Amino acid sequence: MVALSIATPLARHLHRHLIKQTRGQRMIPVRRCNLTVCSSKYVLSALHPMWQGPLVAPGGNRQSPIDIRVRKSVFDPHLMPLIPEYDPRTCSQVWNNGYSFLVEYNDTTDKSIDFLFPVIHSALKGGPLEDVFRLCQFHFHWGESNAWGSEHTVDRRLFPAELHMVHWNSNKYKLFEEAVMEENGLAVIGVFLKIGKRHEGLQKLVDVLPAVRHKDSVVEFTRFDPACLLPANIDDYWTYAGSLTTPPLTEAVTWIIMKQPIEVSHEQLAVFRSLLFTSAEEEVQKSMVNNFRVQQPLKGRTVRSSFTPFLKEEHHGKAPHTGH
Ligand SMILES: [Zn+2]
Repeated sequence: MVALSIATPLARHLHRHLIKQTRGQRMIPVRRCNLTVCSSKYVLSALHPMWQGPLVAPGGNRQSPIDIRVRKSVFDPHLMPLIPEYDPRTCSQVWNNGYSFLVEYNDTTDKSIDFLFPVIHSALKGGPLEDVFRLCQFHFHWGESNAWGSEHTVDRRLFPAELHMVHWNSNKYKLFEEAVMEENGLAVIGVFLKIGKRHEGLQKLVDVLPAVRHKDSVVEFTRFDPACLLPANIDDYWTYAGSLTTPPLTEAVTWIIMKQPIEVSHEQLAVFRSLLFTSAEEEVQKSMVNNFRVQQPLKGRTVRSSFTPFLKEEHHGKAPHTGH
């Protein structure tokens, strides 16, 4: 996804537009069945309201998420190292939007006239990006079990969860709402989560999640450095042109998918799963799980990599990989 805190009116508008075009046809995404994702196709049959009714599919030639085929990705020696410049002081709150929880950052464009207290931002540049992109929020997608949950996959391998750090092009646009409609408007970093040892940086966030258990609840959350959720190696990544994975699904996103996953504990993901899709008033409560979009066709796109998978074998000093 990229859950859009501000795009609801936009999504509504686009929904209306689409309804007119499709004359009420319902479009429900179905994840293609393969050996690894049959189970997730099954769980998606209990559709979240996000995916009910007509969907906005603008163009549809660069939709996300996708399966990253490692051997089909193309090494691009011009891909520079990524430069995240995050300021923990810009962190403001955590919001359960009924599909995920969003950790939101101050990304206002106001020019400060007070030189002692200039407006601060968290920004991302470098990598495949030519402009500076401002962090507005991050969120996760996860499954009901550790067997699936990520939106992207690597050679069909599913991870239990995936982090999305959403940035918008502040060189070209004044607002996220403008950027979300443009080809080069957004840059999203994707980080896979795998089960392992407890992630100490993530724990500060996990500790506040019970306060946003229900849909529409918000809790103040400050001084969180999003860089602590990046893997140790941010130089190795895949990048491709894609879309938002929640309505309005606009094809605005330069995706930057980290090769190295981060480790979190089963207990930490269990707290994610204790959240609810539903508000406190609703009679039937629904666990917030399986909040990912089905995969989309590549349609001739090239996935570029910043690293050379065939020349640089990894040496972990561990036993050989036993598969998954
Ligand atoms: Zn997302």
